[in-house]
Amino acid sequence: MDIAKKILLVILDGASDRPVKGKTPLQLANTPNLDKIASMGISGIMDPIAPGIRPGSDVAHLALLGYDPYEIYTGRGPFEAAGASIPVKKGDIAFRCNFATKRGDVIADRRAGRIRGTGELVRAVQEGVHLDVTFMFEKSAGHRAALVLRGSGLDSDVSDSDPKHDGEAVRNVRALKPDAERTARILNEFTKQAESILERHPLNVGRVKAGKPPANTIITRGAGMVPDIKTFSEKYGLKGAVIAATALVIGIGRICGLNYIETKGATGGVDSNIDAKVKNAIDALKKHDFVLLSIKGTDEASHDGDVKKKIKFISKIDEILAPIIDLKDTLIVVTADHSTPVAVRDHSADPVPVMIAGPGVRADNVCAYDEVSAATGGLNRIRSVNLMPILMDLVNKTKKFGA
Ligand SMILES: [Zn+2]
Repeated sequence: MDIAKKILLVILDGASDRPVKGKTPLQLANTPNLDKIASMGISGIMDPIAPGIRPGSDVAHLALLGYDPYEIYTGRGPFEAAGASIPVKKGDIAFRCNFATKRGDVIADRRAGRIRGTGELVRAVQEGVHLDVTFMFEKSAGHRAALVLRGSGLDSDVSDSDPKHDGEAVRNVRALKPDAERTARILNEFTKQAESILERHPLNVGRVKAGKPPANTIITRGAGMVPDIKTFSEKYGLKGAVIAATALVIGIGRICGLNYIETKGATGGVDSNIDAKVKNAIDALKKHDFVLLSIKGTDEASHDGDVKKKIKFISKIDEILAPIIDLKDTLIVVTADHSTPVAVRDHSADPVPVMIAGPGVRADNVCAYDEVSAATGGLNRIRSVNLMPILMDLVNKTKKFGA
């Protein structure tokens, strides 16, 4: 029987682009393996949310997993918190945090000298701060951390304390609607108590002596409520796994009920251990029906505005992805969560190329993986939220509409 049983979804973060002197980085890179997958399968272009809507990575990934971000998304905090291993529950209010350096009222360094090893500071804050709700504070990569508030009468509609630029004053958190006043008050209280603990913490005293910027405050942003959603297995009847290196994608996977499989040495950047991630993904397919493999370096090169780095990294990914071509009984899906044009150095609303290869797929005439070739393919133009239903149909697990 020519029906696929498993799904491998490869997401090349921000790989999609616009022409740089006539050609896009995907067109310029050396990609024999991705091109082979294109020739085996069906291609198209895909709007992450809808035409003209410029998406964040968070909503773009939710849509790729078939969740409508307009229904469930209130902010990025919950996904970062889940990615930082905080066991979030629906209704929790979560924030992204930075350890930062404050001089007077002004943020001198939003990343506290890119401090690493904040475990001791995190523990001191968790033990020393007392609020009238339960809270969980956990470190994430480098200077980053996540905060979760749990209790009744909380609301995520509050402003950021993070001024987003060095040299500006820390903002007082404000309620954006009357129901959120208690949350704003609790958050300002958290910051006040945390600052007094951090100021006198031996790690910071040592940093000041060594001439390094102390991590003497915590700034918050991205407030959101943990959504009440069906897990991946409830929604699709599939056992899924996520292989990623960034807290955001790990957290999205966890909140959607995917098993996170760690890859040693994977950092999320262009130096990430993608070789091991690909091996991990192939291995995970033995025990899972669905595997999301996220590769972040393409987006990093784009945000740096470095077209050479982006092209080189795409060529490297292509080489490392070669073994997925031989997967049996598996739909191989390659796409990007959104476009990140190097000329813009940020996400754009341009649709992304998507291709599906595997048993039962109606292969078209496209034989290259890039934005321009994909636009001529048999999938035509779809939206990210359409992808999972299409894949579910190809694995023969959709319910019939009508009789
Ligand atoms: Zn992204």
